[in-house]
Amino acid sequence: MQTPHKQKVAFLDLKAQFSDIQKEVLQGVQEVCESAEFVLGSETNAFEQAFSAYIFQDPESNSDSASADLEQALMQRIFTQSAESTKCVGVGNGTDALEIAITALELEPKSEIIIPANTYFACAEAVLNAGMKPVIVDCEEDGSFCPKDSMVSARTRAILCVHLYGVVQNLSAFEEFAMTHNLRLIEDCAQAHGARDELGRMAGSVGDVACFSFYPGKNLGCYGDGGAVLSKHPEIVQKAREIANHGQKFSNLICEKNNHIRLGRNSRLDSIQAKILHIKLESLERHNAHRARCARVYGNELSHLDFLKIPDVFSQSVWHLFVIECCGAASQKRDSLLEFLKEYSIECGVHYPYALSEIPALANHPDVIIHESPNAQSRARRIISLPIGEHLDFSQIEYIAQVMKEFAKTLQPDL
Ligand SMILES: *Cc1c(COP(=O)(O)O)cnc(C)c1O
Repeated sequence: MQTPHKQKVAFLDLKAQFSDIQKEVLQGVQEVCESAEFVLGSETNAFEQAFSAYIFQDPESNSDSASADLEQALMQRIFTQSAESTKCVGVGNGTDALEIAITALELEPKSEIIIPANTYFACAEAVLNAGMKPVIVDCEEDGSFCPKDSMVSARTRAILCVHLYGVVQNLSAFEEFAMTHNLRLIEDCAQAHGARDELGRMAGSVGDVACFSFYPGKNLGCYGDGGAVLSKHPEIVQKAREIANHGQKFSNLICEKNNHIRLGRNSRLDSIQAKILHIKLESLERHNAHRARCARVYGNELSHLDFLKIPDVFSQSVWHLFVIECCGAASQKRDSLLEFLKEYSIECGVHYPYALSEIPALANHPDVIIHESPNAQSRARRIISLPIGEHLDFSQIEYIAQVMKEFAKTLQPDL
């Protein structure tokens, strides 16, 4: 076989995405600038309403079309205009969303919150910064998170279910676990915008409280930092809104200035970001559908390579990352494969190179409880995130597959 002809494959291409929606976005930004309502304005409320309607839509309306969802979001906005019905609070970023959500649960200080070892650092950070103790537990061999009785102590009060890579975890199992042990269920949906579980329920609509990040590289990203806290419980939404705004009282979405009823902080989604997110929400389902097609092409192209474990390409409704695992002859060769792909100008990532249980800032922290995490640690050494996104075309995936086949030759030189 001929060696593949080099071509650049970007991991992420936010410039291409912008050029598609440039006119609409710039006009939206101009409108916000002209209104001069930069913070706590109507644009933020409008996005909160739309995102709330989107996440808390009827599970039965399992539509494939973006326009139907949008129409529904719009109808919901028109017919449930009462501001009180918004189940979403825009905040400064996804990490703040986690911290504010945890604070809004009003657990006793130093309560234990169970979190998986294979997630982003921010999860542990948010638990600690909210004055709680993260209990870092192992994932399964395939990276999924299954709650187990052995993770619970007398001080456990909550569990953080992270829908990592867009994989919606078994929410029914989490609900039952939370019920059995009287725990609050927190969902981290920073990688799962628009993802549904096997019952058609949206990630973020099931737990007591859910957190989203709108960091530019997420499936729904703004042009800076942004995040949101969502909850089906109005009192949690209300508390989160107050915490994010210096503890000031809100009545009907209006901030009572200088009426500080509790300690809070300043963490807000500004109007320009909200406007951009509102515009981009329209293309979320279309972009997610393209990512799902990419995953299926990866499945076709890579499934016969026995040195790679690839995810089940039909099991997921949303893909944030396409994460493969080096196994067999390549199980110790992850870094060489990364290097090989880089030589062929294919940009990849590792999410994440360390399990939380092996990060010294956490492992040495007096308030962190660590359970042995062999699965998470071994995965951290073997995983690679391949490019996926609305910028990718299928020929690029074929190219990546060709390069993988070249790499296979280095594993078995006599073939
Ligand atoms: C991105 C991310 C966060 C943090 O969000 P920021 O907006 O970057 O603060 C938290 N959890 C997960 C799983 C993430 O992917």
